[in-house]
Amino acid sequence: MRQTADAVVIGGGIIGMATAFYLAREKFGNIVVLEKERFFGSGSTSKAAGGIRAQFTTKVNIEMSMLAEKIFANFKEETGHDALYDQVGYMFLLSRDKDIELFRKAYELQLSLGLKAELLEPGQIGKYAPHVRIDDIKLATFCHDDGLGDPAEFLSGYEHAAREHGVELNVEADVTGIDVESGKITRVRTSKGDIATPLVVNAAGAWSGLIAKMVGADLKVKPYPRQCVTTAELDFMEPYFPMVVDVASGLYCHKESKGILLGWANKDSESTFDCSILPDYTDGILERALDRIPQLETAEVANQWTGLYETTPDHRAVIGWEPSVEGMFHVTGFSGHGFMHAPSAGIVSMEMIMGRKLSIDISDLSPERFSKGELVEEQNVI
Ligand SMILES: Cc1cc2nc3c(=O)[nH]c(=O)nc-3n(C[C@H](O)[C@H](O)[C@H](O)COP(=O)(O)OP(=O)(O)OC[C@H]3O[C@@H](n4cnc5c(N)ncnc54)[C@H](O)[C@@H]3O)c2cc1C
Repeated sequence: MRQTADAVVIGGGIIGMATAFYLAREKFGNIVVLEKERFFGSGSTSKAAGGIRAQFTTKVNIEMSMLAEKIFANFKEETGHDALYDQVGYMFLLSRDKDIELFRKAYELQLSLGLKAELLEPGQIGKYAPHVRIDDIKLATFCHDDGLGDPAEFLSGYEHAAREHGVELNVEADVTGIDVESGKITRVRTSKGDIATPLVVNAAGAWSGLIAKMVGADLKVKPYPRQCVTTAELDFMEPYFPMVVDVASGLYCHKESKGILLGWANKDSESTFDCSILPDYTDGILERALDRIPQLETAEVANQWTGLYETTPDHRAVIGWEPSVEGMFHVTGFSGHGFMHAPSAGIVSMEMIMGRKLSIDISDLSPERFSKGELVEEQNVI
């Protein structure tokens, strides 16, 4: 492992890898990525459901997704590596008046930013998702440009491209401390040795609050466990079945191999790093799924897992310089949407670090917003 670097990226998930790639592509200097586990992506990236969508309620999130979707769709040109972005679309089912009001407003904002979102009457839903029960659904929103990707494929693309651009990638390199002298970062301490550096990129996802603590900073990112279930093959699953979100119940589902992936963000979960699979949580997912897709009654569970959302109080990412110490840059806190935002997060982080003009105005994502009380909540989170 190098003993000096121009930048040390902490976290070998999709965010750290994308950021390292864009910095290296723009010839920032010597860059080292440190991952504490044996494999890159062992954290939340390998647990993500693969959803990619731009239907958010805040301008910055819509713009982050629109830029990312362009890159996902042209990933080979961007990185030299193949990864499939399956643009089957994303559908939000709305049964409550308060949700309809929120989603109509968001739809207007999305259109004003150039997103090709649509409103669907209940009769139009069956064209995309024929087995979904719609008797209580009053409206749906849909966007064809949204869809699905395999986080492992995109991570691998960024990983190979970063390596080709000279980034040093280390696994089993646990960051245990960060030295600060006269208010400036000087050194990163790891289980594999120390690296002298003036710049740390904190891309440690659900663990990024612990990294910030190493320099005495209070970063508002907390881990929340989220479970998913996949089923065995289903004979009724069409290849074009989109991501479907039942907004009232919080259930989301999409085709996965020849079956379906089911997830639900249990908002009653306490913050913890514990990723045990809880039977009550699994039951909560299956009950909601059966209610919305009754044909799942005969489905068999193939797999299930728990991963961590890296959540902020306003459910929006933190991208920017840590105000209390010179040389720490945060790119974290995506609150369950970091896979879909990774390409744009990598680009805007590179631009900010290198003092360039930003592709997207991300002033709303600054670390200072929490202490200033300037919070605008992203309301379409699942
Ligand atoms: C069940 C589930 C479903 C999801 N579905 C979606 C989805 O459909 N779409 C979407 O966009 N997002 C989804 N997400 C969210 C997405 O997974 C995350 O937002 C994204 O993976 C964050 O990437 P990251 O690189 O910041 O974090 P991670 O992938 O967690 O990477 C951070 C890395 O930092 C490492 N690390 C931590 N501490 C240290 C240390 N001290 N030293 C060295 N390394 C360290 C960790 O081991 C980890 O590998 C989902 C998440 C879950 C849990």
